[in-house]
Amino acid sequence: MNKYDCLVIGSGPCGISAAVELHNAGKKVAIIECSTPGGKVNIAPRVDNYPGFKEIPGPQLAVEFYKRANEAKVEFIYDTVLELTKDGEEFLLKGNEDEYRARTVLIASGTKERKIGVPKEDEFLGHGVSYCALCDGHFFKDKTVVVIGGGNAALKEALHLIHIVKKLYLVHRRNEFRGYVKLVDELKEFPNAEIVTPYVLDEILGETKVEGVVLKNRETEEKITIETDGLFPLVGQIPNTQFIKIDGILDENGNVPVDKRMETSCKNLFAGGDVTPRPIRQIYLSERDGKAAAKSILENLQ
Ligand code: NAP
Repeated sequence: MNKYDCLVIGSGPCGISAAVELHNAGKKVAIIECSTPGGKVNIAPRVDNYPGFKEIPGPQLAVEFYKRANEAKVEFIYDTVLELTKDGEEFLLKGNEDEYRARTVLIASGTKERKIGVPKEDEFLGHGVSYCALCDGHFFKDKTVVVIGGGNAALKEALHLIHIVKKLYLVHRRNEFRGYVKLVDELKEFPNAEIVTPYVLDEILGETKVEGVVLKNRETEEKITIETDGLFPLVGQIPNTQFIKIDGILDENGNVPVDKRMETSCKNLFAGGDVTPRPIRQIYLSERDGKAAAKSILENLQ
């Protein structure tokens, strides 16, 4: 079985920045990744708040991160971590493919999309329902789409889709937006965009694919029907922490709280990036977490 000084779970900005730092310091480190290196950055249509770039497509930035890890010759293991447990002084990671041991672990596993939870949301995934405008937007060329959500993700994905579709409805449950006003104003400039508030998704219509949605007004209970080809529910994120089998590590929302050194309540177990509870989730903050975690991991490994 392979044994490491540190195993990093996830290859987003936090995981990569930490792994490069640890590798350069001469430690035996590997990143375990179950999907594409770069994490969520891969599906961001545009990034306009990463230092050094005025604006850059997410996939291009993800390649930059991957290049950094590759040039430093950081080891990548392509496997899905199913269980993280403690075995004496070491951590044991059981994956789909193999088992791994490490003296320290950095959890940088990020988040996944929160579902709204209406019938047909899962059934119609790939049949009109999508959580990624960048991946699936082209399927809706000159068609109608409904985007649900009032955060920066919904607004940015809407601003990507608006150039492709004939008509876009942005549906949000409150009249005020959680995301940046600047993005709301930018969307309003497009004649094919319509903002619908304060409405929630009540029903998805269609036999084998999305054909429409029923929306309910949160103040008046009035229901309206919109015919649409696509539905993008973009209502936030939930942490990828289901594999953690060590007691007392998670908070009530499934996030991993850390102290100032990025260490969890379990010694030698660290976390950083979107998997930790935080008011702002941004790429450069995750990267900073990775650097801070690496410094603390090096101290613990001494
Ligand atoms: P978010 O900021 O948590 O926003 C989620 C939105 O979905 C909120 O407007 C929320 O409404 C709404 N919502 C939640 N549950 C809902 C439900 N069941 N039905 C209808 N609406 C629901 O999540 P996010 O937009 O995915 O962003 C996550 C983090 O990444 C944030 O920190 C965000 O700033 C950051 N991010 C930043 C950028 C950037 O360019 N800076 C881009 C993307 C994401 P309420 O407002 O009423 O709660």
